[in-house]
Amino acid sequence: MGPFPKYLRLKPIIISTFVLWGIAAIFSAPWWLYAFVLWLGLTITYFGTTQISSNFHLPAHCKAVHSDKKEIAITFDDGVLNPTQSKLVLDILKQYEVPATFFCIGKNLASKEQIEVLKQMDAEGHIIGNHSFSHANFFDFFSSQRVVQEILDTDKVIQQHLNKQPLFFRPPYGITTPNIAKAMRQVEHQTIGWSLRSLDTVIKDEKMLLKRVQKKLKKGAVILFHDHLEFLPRFLPLFLEYLLKEGYTVVGLDQLLQLQAYKH
Ligand SMILES: [Zn+2]
Repeated sequence: MGPFPKYLRLKPIIISTFVLWGIAAIFSAPWWLYAFVLWLGLTITYFGTTQISSNFHLPAHCKAVHSDKKEIAITFDDGVLNPTQSKLVLDILKQYEVPATFFCIGKNLASKEQIEVLKQMDAEGHIIGNHSFSHANFFDFFSSQRVVQEILDTDKVIQQHLNKQPLFFRPPYGITTPNIAKAMRQVEHQTIGWSLRSLDTVIKDEKMLLKRVQKKLKKGAVILFHDHLEFLPRFLPLFLEYLLKEGYTVVGLDQLLQLQAYKH
């Protein structure tokens, strides 16, 4: 999807509601017309805020630039929440020789075990992305300054252990706001979304998850998983076997999006 039309953003909607109100007052339109326009505006804004691929508040990279090839990228969020589980995931990826991207949370990169796994991810050729420091429930209400600080704090932890400065940022919950957009312009990272939300945190069953992903899979997809989930090591081999059978290739997110994952 291309950039979201500017005229559909919140402020223009409110302004045009008032303009409509003025015009309608002259021609005496019914009251519900204003209510409808306002409702429509708010609905569109809600959709744009919660759907990262809509590019409503900022441009986000959610799928391949050229999706004519049978290539996809796999991403895992919220690491390293559970080092033991992440290691199981890493073993499977290694076995199938599949690259992935791990969007890690700064506060989850603290213990010795978490750092060990972070280093293993990097050493085994996976990309590390920034997924904020706190992943707070109210991240979407943070000021742009606070968002900038969250991104810089996580960058610092990653830099400290891997000597690499990440350029990929995925907002918590995939929520975007004008403040996050402002922060992203300041830190000059790439905003990364997804085109296929696996809903693995909800489904929690390997066979049902496989069904969902099979149904939704398209060329050029960026798929969202979570590496801390207990059932995921049972799902991954089934999924990777399916990809092989269907002739899909898993490539790095940088290759799929034609973007640089780290600052040089
Ligand atoms: Zn997350």
